Amino acid sequence: MKKIENRNTEKSIQNYRFYIQSVFAFLCIWIGVEFYQFVNSLQAGGAVTFNNRPPGVEGFLPISSLMSFYLFLTTGEIHSAHPAGLFIFIAIILMSLVFGKSFCSWLCPVGYISELIGEFGEKIIYKLFKRKIRLPKYIDYPLRSLKYLLLAFFVYAIFFLMTTISIKAFLDSPYNLVADIKMYYFFAEISRFSLIVIGSLLLLSVFIKNFWCRFLCPYGALLGLLSFLSLNKIKRNQVSCVDCGLCAKACPSNIKVDKVNMVFSDECTTCLSCVDACPVADTLDVRFLLTKKKIPKKNIAIAVVIIFMAVTGLGMLTGNWQNKITSEEYVNHLKYMNSYGHPTGTEAVKKFNEDATSNLPEKKNVIESEGRYKQNLNSQIGKKN
Ligand code: SF4
Ligand code: SF4
Repeated sequence: MKKIENRNTEKSIQNYRFYIQSVFAFLCIWIGVEFYQFVNSLQAGGAVTFNNRPPGVEGFLPISSLMSFYLFLTTGEIHSAHPAGLFIFIAIILMSLVFGKSFCSWLCPVGYISELIGEFGEKIIYKLFKRKIRLPKYIDYPLRSLKYLLLAFFVYAIFFLMTTISIKAFLDSPYNLVADIKMYYFFAEISRFSLIVIGSLLLLSVFIKNFWCRFLCPYGALLGLLSFLSLNKIKRNQVSCVDCGLCAKACPSNIKVDKVNMVFSDECTTCLSCVDACPVADTLDVRFLLTKKKIPKKNIAIAVVIIFMAVTGLGMLTGNWQNKITSEEYVNHLKYMNSYGHPTGTEAVKKFNEDATSNLPEKKNVIESEGRYKQNLNSQIGKKN
């Protein structure tokens, strides 16, 4: 190993990353508690004070948000069912275009939990076996492709099988309107099978760091692909590098940072662990590719938070945060919610597409009569009150 001439004395950013992740995870728990109160107030059918629904819950509806994004791209319309979901989705996309998959390692609550479990597992395994578990390439690569297969299915179904009309029909459908409540019941009344699946994923995350994120998360797959477009990349200075390998050792994504001049990987989450681990000054940094200028670590931390807050703040300021569904409509939907479903599989998506696009005049009548029904319902509720 070469001698270190100029030691890296820059402070690690990992503590700040941990604080930001913790605050965001706390925010998600808070949203969860508020949503629980909201559903409780719906179940009481107005017998208790109506609790406002926290719009942030829509961040957990990525499919609906992707459809909303498609509708926004093709028509410019911000769909009114889950507008906050659209703004959260755009914020995450923008973060990825600027700083790669930074959402995964700085804000995502699932990434945060995976990381904590993975670190705990690594310590235990190291104590027992004096080594880390790393899957061989012939297992790692096929498993990593699973998240892309899931993403490909959603992209194919939404962008290629569905038309703008059927996307709008889906977004308007009762299923989508209450998708957040459906998600709540999935966890509140969790089946034994789902518990086994979630438990298995948690257990696997102990032995294989970031199991869900690395192999299964389609959202991460999308951000990984977008990250290739980011102009800010981790660059290694080959001349000053002393080939200590500490960067590769620190990388939670198993990227061989010490063997490349620039990290160009869909697995890099811009966590900056490698940059912090490098013992030589100005040898491993994030640089803006056009000017080759180094971007200080603190600026990256501030920028990812600001991008997220700015885009979601824009949603709030423009009145596209809270949806327009009234508590009465929610209470009414709650009664029939178990009968609401969504297409599963490509054949069902094609059928949905055909149904939505055919008989448009008849559809228009149905939509109009539904509108009249809603108006009547609201006026009846108004009279009762
Ligand atoms: S390459 Fe560096 S920034 Fe990217 S995931 Fe690995 S440690 Fe994190
Ligand atoms: S870039 Fe990686 S291998 Fe080179 S000195 Fe820094 S930590 Fe060591």
